[in-house]
Amino acid sequence: MALIVQKYGGSSVATPQRIKKIAERVVKTKKENHKLVVVVSAMGDTTDNLIKLMEKINPDPPKRELDLLLSTGEVVSAALLAAAISAKDEKAVAFTAYQGGIITDEIHTKARIQRINTRKILEELNRGNILVIAGFQGVTPNDAITTLGRGGSDTTAVAVAAALKADICEIYTDVEGVFTADPRIVPQARKLKKISYDEMLELASLGTKVLHLRAVEIAKKFKVPLHIRSSFTDREGTLIC
Ligand code: ADP
Ligand code: ASP
Ligand code: MG
Repeated sequence: MALIVQKYGGSSVATPQRIKKIAERVVKTKKENHKLVVVVSAMGDTTDNLIKLMEKINPDPPKRELDLLLSTGEVVSAALLAAAISAKDEKAVAFTAYQGGIITDEIHTKARIQRINTRKILEELNRGNILVIAGFQGVTPNDAITTLGRGGSDTTAVAVAAALKADICEIYTDVEGVFTADPRIVPQARKLKKISYDEMLELASLGTKVLHLRAVEIAKKFKVPLHIRSSFTDREGTLIC
């Protein structure tokens, strides 16, 4: 039995149909007898739309309230995915970052995770539940909701994997792995089978958005093996170790 963390990005959970597809993959992994934590992003363009919505109300909003608003996107995905898993007769529980004990500093809109109180997560896993956690968000010691910066669900997944000493953190996205260049812009770009943390760190710091920079930093520090792969196919992706 392995402990696996899977993260699904915005395009992987963009529609009800996609969420049901993801639930199938999650249930298949669980049936292979693994403990499973799933981290989700907001559906499709939800975060962009929430930002636009706030702009209509107040172009210079209080960051605390902006974070509270943005955090709702991931909560919607987590609740829907847990319900989709339940519809397939597996036990699943959805957590916000508050419920999952993901504690950050107070820097709203680009908070950093300081620690994760894993007690409640472990309780659910030990009950045999699949745990679905809302990505991209945290809570300060004073109970304000924070967000981790755009693309931050990757960081939630890797930090949770590090805290739980997971065997692997699988990042499911809309491309088949890490390529030599953005495959949407450079069609002849090559998929990399395996790269080091330092090589990925370099790509992420150049702005390659397939992985959040902070996620790579945490993976390197805590030696979390990462597998970047597509949620649209079953092909092997890129291993970062
Ligand atoms: P998610 O919503 O799953 O987090 P992102 O949109 O944040 O996905 O990241 C995936 C995107 O990263 C791809 O669609 C691709 O266009 C882009 N990308 C940029 N550079 C690369 C690269 N070198 N390899 C793979 N994807 C890349
Ligand atoms: N939903 C957030 C964003 O769009 C976080 C993420 O997708 O990782 O930036
Ligand atoms: Mg992303």
